[in-house]
Amino acid sequence: MTSSPVVIPFVDLQFQHQPIQDQINQAIQTVIHQGDYVLGNALKEFELEFAQACGIPYGIGVACGTDAIALGLQACGIGKGDEVILPANTFVATLIGVMRSGATPIFVDCEPKTALIDLDAAEQAITPKTRAIVPVHLYGQMVSPRRLLELANTYNLVIFEDAAQAHLAEREGYRAGSVGTAAAFSFYPSKNLGAFGDGGMVVTREEIVAQTLRSLRNYGAPRKYFHTDYGTNSRLDTLQAAVLKTKLPYLHEWNGDRNRIAQQYNDRLQPLTRQGIIPLENQIGGGHVYHLYVVRVTAACSLERDALQSGLTDLGIQTGIHYPIPCHLQPAFQSLGYGEGSFPHAEALSQEILSLPLYPGLSDVAIQQVVNSIKTLLGLSPEKNPLHSNPVSTAPRSAVLHQSLL
Ligand SMILES: *Cc1c(COP(=O)(O)O)cnc(C)c1O
Repeated sequence: MTSSPVVIPFVDLQFQHQPIQDQINQAIQTVIHQGDYVLGNALKEFELEFAQACGIPYGIGVACGTDAIALGLQACGIGKGDEVILPANTFVATLIGVMRSGATPIFVDCEPKTALIDLDAAEQAITPKTRAIVPVHLYGQMVSPRRLLELANTYNLVIFEDAAQAHLAEREGYRAGSVGTAAAFSFYPSKNLGAFGDGGMVVTREEIVAQTLRSLRNYGAPRKYFHTDYGTNSRLDTLQAAVLKTKLPYLHEWNGDRNRIAQQYNDRLQPLTRQGIIPLENQIGGGHVYHLYVVRVTAACSLERDALQSGLTDLGIQTGIHYPIPCHLQPAFQSLGYGEGSFPHAEALSQEILSLPLYPGLSDVAIQQVVNSIKTLLGLSPEKNPLHSNPVSTAPRSAVLHQSLL
């Protein structure tokens, strides 16, 4: 009889926060002491530092990633009557952001092997009304900047990156957020850089876009009680900015850890390709920041995805599905006129994908336990590896990310 397995959570943020708890507390205390809760010092500093980390000049903190997309597109001059191209397989916030700008969303399918937007399909979808493309750097992997820029130059399109899952990702010499006119980031707690609550940012290389955003997020007022835009209230709290500013210097290291873990999964799952478990294909040459580690449970697998997932749950392994229903099939958006069969790759992927536990601090033993659990469920013998020095996470349950954040 083996001992009962330790639960491996899908995400556990304690590994990030515990070592720098004193610094974070200090940063929070400073904001409280200065009392500049709204548009305060720490926000200005963090905006500058984060934009610099992306390699571009301006950052404008907003309330969340969804607002970053909606307000960011608006600040780029995109709105009613404009068509905006986006992938069907993304988190629904991409779609909500596009729709809130007033523009008409035009979905396209994805590449089956990477789950990234298919840029050939995007080119086919361009009409005289197309003004922008919103590539989503899904799971931490960038959509090819070279190909995006070719497309944008040929058809005179604005590129607005959804980089909510791709903080500091790189490809072809570009950093996420530095390819287009502007880009949106989210600081939702479980993102690669996460706040203690909601947060977001638009980064841009254009001063006029930055100015417009500062107005839009602050009731449309470039100065107090003088309203030039139909804006809203969407500011990144100074407290959240202070937390994020404290965490930012560690982001590179955390992304490195995510890569190390993904590499382990790649190596250990390699023998399972014959059993129909296929990790998503990754770009050559690094630069992926693995917000998520996603495998496809294909038709060649003896278990269906949902059966594998519930089997893993029973063995104490928490997993996720990102995302189980593509945007175009969500009940709220049926009026857009798409239906089942519109985007075969996105639809097939939604049935096959499974996200495995991945977070900075996930131990080798835990990774092995995840892989062994999959093997057990597929009727294969578990790998034997004398790894004992690196114990599985035993963080207290209260420290584990709340279920609602998965
Ligand atoms: C998280 C996320 C968003 C939205 O960010 P919020 O801060 O939750 O509003 C947008 N797009 C993608 C791809 C995301 O993963």
